[in-house]
Amino acid sequence: MSGLEQQYVQEAFASNWIAPLGPNVDAFEQAFCAVTGAKHALALSSGTAALHLALRLSGVGPGDEVLVSTLTFSASVNPILYEGGTPTFIDSEWQSWNMDAALLAETLAARAKAGRLPKAVVVVHLYGQSADLEPILAACQAYGVPLIEDAAEALGATYKGKAPGTLGKAGIFSFNGNKIITTSGGGMLVSDDEALIAHARKLATQARDAAPHYQHSEIGFNYRMSNVLAGIGRGQLAVLEERVQARRANFAFYEETLGHLPGVAFMPEAPWGRHTRWLTVLTIDPAQFGADREMVRLALEAENIEARPVWKPMHLQPIFSKYACMGGGVAEHFFQNGLCLPSGSNLTRDEQQRVVEIIREIYQKARV
Ligand SMILES: *Cc1c(COP(=O)(O)O)cnc(C)c1O
Repeated sequence: MSGLEQQYVQEAFASNWIAPLGPNVDAFEQAFCAVTGAKHALALSSGTAALHLALRLSGVGPGDEVLVSTLTFSASVNPILYEGGTPTFIDSEWQSWNMDAALLAETLAARAKAGRLPKAVVVVHLYGQSADLEPILAACQAYGVPLIEDAAEALGATYKGKAPGTLGKAGIFSFNGNKIITTSGGGMLVSDDEALIAHARKLATQARDAAPHYQHSEIGFNYRMSNVLAGIGRGQLAVLEERVQARRANFAFYEETLGHLPGVAFMPEAPWGRHTRWLTVLTIDPAQFGADREMVRLALEAENIEARPVWKPMHLQPIFSKYACMGGGVAEHFFQNGLCLPSGSNLTRDEQQRVVEIIREIYQKARV
């Protein structure tokens, strides 16, 4: 927390706006638009809820195919299944670890040839870095397929000067406790399409029709963000840039102290924009390093330091393995060899130094 949050939360109590609407919600949405350049924003109870509404408003229904990045968290995929859709996974490229635009274009061309286009594409911006949006957007536009951006991990990143999440038909963000800024739990749906956001706003508040009595002509959800939590969001948004700088400084320290070790490679920062380094992620080549990713993770765990493997690709998940995946080997490589290091905005250099020393020690031991 920045310390600014309490004032906004206090305002919610003082004005008795303890509801899933109110002045903090409105102000948070406006401030979010100002920070990201989105035209319209809708504060919601989670990023997952935002993605669910984006898919529903793209018309995804039973049996519809949705193309989605395989290297991601399951929340990028679950809402496709909520709507009865069928995910098809797309592999990563090496430059940003995100969706391979060429593979997406090939897949869309094949679908067009077969006469059955997917209903939507969900591109994920992983670990604080934008995917290569221009060719991805071009491929989607060529076939008239809407692009939904899962920018849950990428608030503060840039793509050619713009905020990833704001270039497609709709974008989603998350303020879950582990994200770069948090409302404890929450999400945002953004779009340049005013009607889409207006419809999402209606669906998120139980889809009540304009009538004095309670009347409903479509299925609704209870997905709005609380005015109390939106107060936290307003305070957090004010320190987003500081948080990005802190995360990037963490990365710089790790890179400086570990980058020279043979077999260690950090997730690259692609030339098209700023990586927030929400998480510092590296890969370990066991042949060169002398120990594998899991040995490093366990050595850190033995010192009570949590580090996690890179996301297990969706096409390898027991629940999703029956769905098709275009490619998959690149994402599998990152999962096999990738490790997320402690990356919190409040991490001290001493704490980082401990992480570095443990990793250096494993490297030294592997030499003797
Ligand atoms: C966190 C996350 C989500 C879901 O956001 P919630 O607010 O936790 O529902 C979706 N996609 C990705 C890639 C995420 O990391």
